[in-house]
Amino acid sequence: MPSYRAPVDDTLFLLNDVLQYQRFSGLKGFADVTPDVIAQILAEAGKLCEEVLAPLNQSGDANGCRRDADGAVRTPAGFREAFAAYAGGGWIGLPVPEEYGGQGLPFTLSTPMSEYASAANMAFAMYPGLTQGALAALLTHGSDEQKRLYAPKMAEGRWTGTMNLTEPQCGTDLGLLTTKAVPRADGGYSITGQKIFISAGEHDLAENIIHLVLARIEGAPAGVKGISLFIVPKVLVNADGSLGQRNGVSCGSIEEKMGIHGNATCVMNYDGAQGFLIGEPNRGLNAMFVMMNEARLGVAIQGLAQSEVAYQNALAYAKERLQGRALTGPKDPDKKADPILVHPDVRRMLMEIKAFNEAARGLTLAAALDSDVVHRSPDAAARQAAEDRLGLMTPVLKGVLTDLGFDNAVKAQQVFGGHGYIREWGMEQFVRDARIAMIYEGANGIQALDLVGRKLPRDGGRAIMAFFKDAGELLQSHGDKEAMKPFVAPTQAALGDLQKASMWLMQNAMAKPDNAGAASYDYMHLLGRVALALMWVKIAAAAFEKKAREPEQAARMDAKLVTARFYMERMLPETGLRLARIVTGADTMMSLAADMF
Ligand SMILES: Cc1cc2nc3c(=O)[nH]c(=O)nc-3n(C[C@H](O)[C@H](O)[C@H](O)COP(=O)(O)OP(=O)(O)OC[C@H]3O[C@@H](n4cnc5c(N)ncnc54)[C@H](O)[C@@H]3O)c2cc1C
Repeated sequence: MPSYRAPVDDTLFLLNDVLQYQRFSGLKGFADVTPDVIAQILAEAGKLCEEVLAPLNQSGDANGCRRDADGAVRTPAGFREAFAAYAGGGWIGLPVPEEYGGQGLPFTLSTPMSEYASAANMAFAMYPGLTQGALAALLTHGSDEQKRLYAPKMAEGRWTGTMNLTEPQCGTDLGLLTTKAVPRADGGYSITGQKIFISAGEHDLAENIIHLVLARIEGAPAGVKGISLFIVPKVLVNADGSLGQRNGVSCGSIEEKMGIHGNATCVMNYDGAQGFLIGEPNRGLNAMFVMMNEARLGVAIQGLAQSEVAYQNALAYAKERLQGRALTGPKDPDKKADPILVHPDVRRMLMEIKAFNEAARGLTLAAALDSDVVHRSPDAAARQAAEDRLGLMTPVLKGVLTDLGFDNAVKAQQVFGGHGYIREWGMEQFVRDARIAMIYEGANGIQALDLVGRKLPRDGGRAIMAFFKDAGELLQSHGDKEAMKPFVAPTQAALGDLQKASMWLMQNAMAKPDNAGAASYDYMHLLGRVALALMWVKIAAAAFEKKAREPEQAARMDAKLVTARFYMERMLPETGLRLARIVTGADTMMSLAADMF
């Protein structure tokens, strides 16, 4: 059976030493969160994930969700109790303002919990994760009355949330959406239509489910300009917050799917269900984007999480499995063979995963800090800079962390040889679970288009220019330190590749949009590799300082420095390949007529 240990020490190092979380103590909710408090919160988070969620991962996968004839959905055995423990621990409401029943703590502290929970049990973690996303949209765009009515119960986990975008004919292209909203005499709307693939659409974990549903008000313009967002509760809520009648929404079926079997992926039928408009009519996508951006970061974390849990198990296996001898001669002559960790190729796989995980974790925490700055800083310039960074990095994190998360789950499975293919070891589940993160919440190709088509040109390229400026300053600040050269020089070169690719796009994409489309995926990965490298530069600098300050940490920090070096030597050169592909343009790719394929 696979095991999981939450990487609390690594998160603490990143927060305290690398990102210097204490710099933000002036922000609302940060003042009381001392390093001791953070350590305590993360230790509790880790304990719940290791002891309660992880043991349900394999059984949840094997047993899946069941839909009864009346449309009720039962989650796998143990999920109800686990959800009660998760909600009861205040984890859903952790970043929610106190006036809405939360703890008002930084979102940055809820991010490690998302990682640990997704690593321990990704299917389970989606129930609270979607609730947090729905809460964020509601708190940003809901009316005071809507917030009062729904938010506290959701923060408590008595009610959960969902996001309903997808329809049979409408996936990526939301302009094709047909779910209808007809105004009612009482000021509400009557919602009719079918949504498919709705995660956590129906289940037995909570008293009520608050669906956030995109629909088109009768007579609204066609396309994305005519879409509005509605709250559609499974059970209607009375003015005093008590539960009323069952609403006209039901689960028609649950999907049989490749992974995340413990999460109910539902076809949801809306048959004249009562809905309540959030925000302005026809501005629904704008409101839903809050949830989508939050969810994209959450999905990026799922990629990292599957990579981490798969790595931990592969590493343990590589230390125990005896096969062959080291190329340099037996390492363990008393045994019949050496552990497979002695083989360079096994190390290649493990090091590639490790070098990704530790920097990717830093990037998710940095993004969470930016999100806190956006929502809590009194300084308008700081808010704008953080918003620009977050906007630029969200598609990169979603696309790159989930692509590499899946690749890494496969690599970790490979470490097990044939045993990785056998269910009882649990590695094939990590592969199956990791796969969806590349697809939902905007398929990764769409993330790449969002990056190149929207995020790069926005505000005259302000975000990417700030990225280059920050990166240049970081590298310059460490450039004259001899010990930092193995990290600074390759990152500088990779940054040069990114600059060339950005310039090529500026010169070649405007007149010929297919050039942008053809370059976008490689550009997203190129930017992702550079962002990981910059994080490794920060980690390396922090590791040198920590080693000098706390000699007892030397071995741990040396491991960081070796891993940073590995990233620079063996993973970062990929930026050259990406650039070479980008500058070939779209002509060859687009030249085959459909009947020539
Ligand atoms: C397990 C699961 C859970 C899900 N949970 C939810 C949920 O909770 N709520 C929800 O609303 N939806 C959910 N989804 C739906 C998911 O978000 C969509 O499947 C996804 O957005 C892609 O839409 P599609 O499947 O219709 O693919 P399509 O839009 O048909 O895309 C097919 C392929 O074409 C590519 N493509 C499409 N348009 C373009 C373009 N303009 N340029 C370049 N490439 C393009 C895509 O990248 C993709 O590779 C879930 C799906 C699954 C499988």
